[in-house]
Amino acid sequence: GSQHKVDANVLLLGAENVGKSALTVRFLTRRFIGEYSDIESIYSHIDKIDGREISFNIWDSLYPQDSVTTETISEKQLEWADGVILVYSICDRHSFEVVRQQVHLIRNMIRNAGRKLSATAPIVVVGNKRDLQHRRSVSSEEGRLLALSEDCGFFEISAAETYHGVLLVFHGLIELIKESRALRKDAA
Ligand code: GDP
Ligand code: MG
Repeated sequence: GSQHKVDANVLLLGAENVGKSALTVRFLTRRFIGEYSDIESIYSHIDKIDGREISFNIWDSLYPQDSVTTETISEKQLEWADGVILVYSICDRHSFEVVRQQVHLIRNMIRNAGRKLSATAPIVVVGNKRDLQHRRSVSSEEGRLLALSEDCGFFEISAAETYHGVLLVFHGLIELIKESRALRKDAA
């Protein structure tokens, strides 16, 4: 019924230093602590949306140091994920290009894996550090256009400034995950 608990495995991807850990910690604790250790970890968190319990598992990933020679996303990560949050920093042009590459990589991996990766893996693109307007090097329009052309959700937020934006990101992804599950059920 409608009170049934929802489980969602959420994978955070993106270049280093864009705020993946800040987003994760904000969502888990509502706080911004400013410094985050570089550990790869999966966190569990229960949240309520419209009275319905959502059980999150959040994989805060590390961008590989040798990203030039290795793929930046593993098949294991994609097999695990029900949805993906791709983070860039609005003041780091390179991190935006990483997001563009990673969207394409995810789409290709799913296409090439055939049945092994049956998931459609909904994606939300997030431009973080919106508080640093004076250092902006990626416009909102560019971010939105990329998300639109790749059929992803889009948010610009500041994990440093507010909890609210971070909440919208996770809730937005849950909506997309629910939609994709409903579609799959219909197709089955
Ligand atoms: P990760 O490598 O992607 O996990 O990035 P972190 O979460 O470790 O954040 C990298 C740096 O950016 C840290 O110094 C954070 O305090 C800072 N940071 C994260 N989010 C924001 C934000 O929204 N605004 C600003 N100004 N700094 C941020
Ligand atoms: Mg981190």
